Parts: sequence; C-alpha cells; structure tokens
Amino acid sequence: MRRFLFFIICCWTTLLSNPVAERSWAVNLVFYDYLAGNGIDASILSDLDDETFGSLKMILAKTYYYEHRDEESGKLLHALIPISDDRQISLYLDSDKYRIEIIPVRYFVVTETLNAKMKNSLQHDLLQITGNSKLSTELSSIYGVRVDFRRDLQKEDRVSAIYDRKIRLGKTWGAVVVKSAFIEMRKSRLYAFYRDEDESYYDETGNTLASLFLKYPVQFIEITSKYQPNGRVHPILGVMRPHLGVDFAALQGTSVISVADGAVRFRGCQKECDKGYGKLVIIEHKNGWESRYAHLSGFAPALAAGGRVKQGQTIGYVGKTGVATGSHLHFEVRKGGQNTNPLALRNVRQNGLNGAKLEKFLTEAKRLRSELDYLADIGENSVTRVSSAKLPESGGAN
Ligand SMILES: [Zn+2]
Repeated sequence: MRRFLFFIICCWTTLLSNPVAERSWAVNLVFYDYLAGNGIDASILSDLDDETFGSLKMILAKTYYYEHRDEESGKLLHALIPISDDRQISLYLDSDKYRIEIIPVRYFVVTETLNAKMKNSLQHDLLQITGNSKLSTELSSIYGVRVDFRRDLQKEDRVSAIYDRKIRLGKTWGAVVVKSAFIEMRKSRLYAFYRDEDESYYDETGNTLASLFLKYPVQFIEITSKYQPNGRVHPILGVMRPHLGVDFAALQGTSVISVADGAVRFRGCQKECDKGYGKLVIIEHKNGWESRYAHLSGFAPALAAGGRVKQGQTIGYVGKTGVATGSHLHFEVRKGGQNTNPLALRNVRQNGLNGAKLEKFLTEAKRLRSELDYLADIGENSVTRVSSAKLPESGGAN
C-alpha cells in the first residue's frame, strides 16, 4: 500500500518495479555527506536560494525519509527528506542529472479523542493506548507548571483529550496539537482549551495555564537557606535577622536568568560592592511583581537600567559580592513592595483574557467543554477517531 501510494504521487521519475525504502536520518549526518555518499556533486546546491540552502541544515536526526533506488545498480533515483512538519527536500534524477527542490509534505490530519484512566503512569498508560509518546509529552508541557504528572496523579484519575494528529504514509507525523483536554484528579477536572490566536492554553474561566515565573533563576547545587520572614541567625553577623529570599548555592560564574519578562530597574551596587547585596539586579515585572538577584560576580553585557529583559534571559553571573559566605545567588521576590516566598511562585499565573476576547473565548470553551465531557463519558482507555481524515490545504507529494 505504501509503495502504491508513493508511486501514485511521484510517478514522474521511474518505473514501478523499483523499491522504495524508509530510512531514518543518521545522527550527525550532514546533507553534503549524503550527496557525496550517493555520488552527487555538491554543485547542484548552487542554484538554491539562501533560505532553502539554510534549511538543508535543519534535517533532524532520526527523521524518517524515503529513498527510491534502482534495483540493480542501487543508484539513487529519488529521495524525499523532511526538513519540517510541512516541507521536504525532493532530490531526484531527471535525464541523468540530479535536481533538488523543496516541496510540501503531504499528510492527512485526523482528529481523535483519548480517554484514559490512570493505571501506572500517564506516560506509560498513554503510550499503551495511543501507540506513540507524543501525546503524553504534549500534555505534560501544557499542564507543566500546574500539575506534576509524577507526583500529583494517582490511580483512577482520568485524562481526556481531543487532538489533531498528522498521518504521513501510515505513521504519526510531526506535532500533535491538543485542542481541548482535562485532567481529573480526585473527581475534580482541570481543563485546558487551545486558543488559536495566541497558540496558548486557557482553563474554562479564561485563565492561562502558563505560569508567570520560571521555577528557578539559576542552576544550583542546593538551596542553602529558605525564605524565613520571621528570622534566622545571620551566618556572618551572628544576629537574628529575617531572611527575605532564597539562597541557591551555585558555582561562581553560573548564569543567572530572569524568571519573567520585565524591565531592569537597578543594576549595580546599592552602597559599596562589598556591603549588603553586593552586585545586584532588580527587575520589575507586570502586576507589581519585582525580582532581585544579589551577590553577583558580574552583569550580563548590554544589561542596562531601563532596558527590557525576556523570561529566561541571562542577566548576570553567580558570585559572592557583598555580605556572603560563599558563592551563591540570593533571590528575592516582592509583590507591591512586600516580600514573598520565591519558592511558592509556580501557581502565579499570567493574566488571563478579558473584555471581548474573554467573551468570545468563553463561548468557544463552553462548546469544547460539552463536547469533551460527552466524549469522555463514552469511552474508557480508548482512542476514538472523531473526524474523518482531511488533507491539508497545500498540495504536494507525500
Ligand atoms: Zn540570602
């Protein structure tokens, strides 16, 4: 069937008798070597535009691709090698000359419903039911900061999802897009609905599932001191002092990143660099949040007061400037000027939708929710196809 399909679609090169093989792109194989290995001169690349040329570097290891070779000589007649979910390299022999083109990947999209009741772990159960690992990966990233899949889910908890899956030559292809889902923990359902406009997930009330903050600002060895607003004995001063942040022991020079988008309010030393916080960065975030990173050995280049930073951007490096016993990051978070526990931020969510956007979303979410609830009540530990296969808009081969 596969061979038949292949020839229907790309019959312009050769006869029906030659075999088509499915292969997996080797780790570290570069396209030049692939050409050389097939006796093809790299000069065929000279006609490509810059973008296409650049995309030849984008072939991912273990991508499956197709080769069509002459049965007797083994000579490559045609290869189809994907460079993304939607585009592929078509390398073919045309009257004794090799040619190369970028063409669309042909696939079908099916919509499916999954209903699972936890037996072992989400990952294991979903693999067993769906036959691939993509759905559990996708769900754990959607619920990432809200649900710890290993710790929070128990036996008899449920997961339901409606998702789109691409099928290319009989196999799951590319990303799985979850349209709606719930995780039912101890009978309570946590919903997630996909919103096309911003490619984000929201719950049934229009709150985003994404967290405003990253969990940690640094790769650390251990947490040496927690948030203790009522006081601890200060390691250097020897007196009772509240500890209004968290200390992360880390190697000197380790990158420190901003836990959220924001603006740099301060970069420098408040008094002298050997006192107090030492080298310090203060970042202002939305909704009155502020984060502080102290005892740094230095600042990231181009970090200036007033400048913008993105979540995850490096702002400085771990050190022991100011009053510090060893190299560590002192990390503080304030909301409206009040200190708060930096380790309790995972549930602080970004702003949800409002106004007309919220109205529109709520209508859509209501529809998706009743659809999902309905389908969830029908099946257990099953995958059901909801819609028949549909072709993507673009044409092309395979
Ligand atoms: Zn500290």
